[in-house]
Amino acid sequence: MRPVKYNIHPKEAKLADSLIVSEMPDGYTGEGFFATKLSDVVGLARKNSIWPMPFATSCCGIEFMATMASHYDLARFGSERVGFSPRQCDLLMVMGTIAKKMGPVLRQVYIQMAEPRWVMAVGACASTGGIFDTYSVLQGIDQIIPVDVYVPGCAPRPEAILDGVMRIQDIVQNESIRRRNTDHYKALLNSYGIE
Ligand code: SF4
Repeated sequence: MRPVKYNIHPKEAKLADSLIVSEMPDGYTGEGFFATKLSDVVGLARKNSIWPMPFATSCCGIEFMATMASHYDLARFGSERVGFSPRQCDLLMVMGTIAKKMGPVLRQVYIQMAEPRWVMAVGACASTGGIFDTYSVLQGIDQIIPVDVYVPGCAPRPEAILDGVMRIQDIVQNESIRRRNTDHYKALLNSYGIE
């Protein structure tokens, strides 16, 4: 009979090697205290807990699957909680060709997301229509919803998608918590016919 070996002497994990500590926001420090802006603390928390909502319609979605898997591991950025209910997500990732018939559906999903929400157009199709310069394909999702980051490529490699997520993180971290109440932001939404 083959002997069963139990791993009863596991190697001691070196936590220091596997933990990534977020950078401290700008502020004032002294003995026993650290003071900073509320906006910076909120930005830091939001940046490291983005919940993506994948809207994948074709091949770029496959690259996203690879991005979520163990090798590229989007969880390292605090974004492993992928949601398929728009109301609980804050990053809409549009990946794939969007037919004009699909446009109203995508717009509806965006409207259902609570503020603050961000949008990433992943790949040439979502950004510009890509190779499908045809009557039936939307020539870029920014014709119907505002986009924060565009990821180029057909298809973009997972590294490019990760880079896009990091660009989103930069935006999230540095965004004022008041931005969503500004006239400028309301005017942006109004320009898309969104109240
Ligand atoms: S950009 Fe290229 S890979 Fe991505 S959905 Fe379009 S055709 Fe497919």
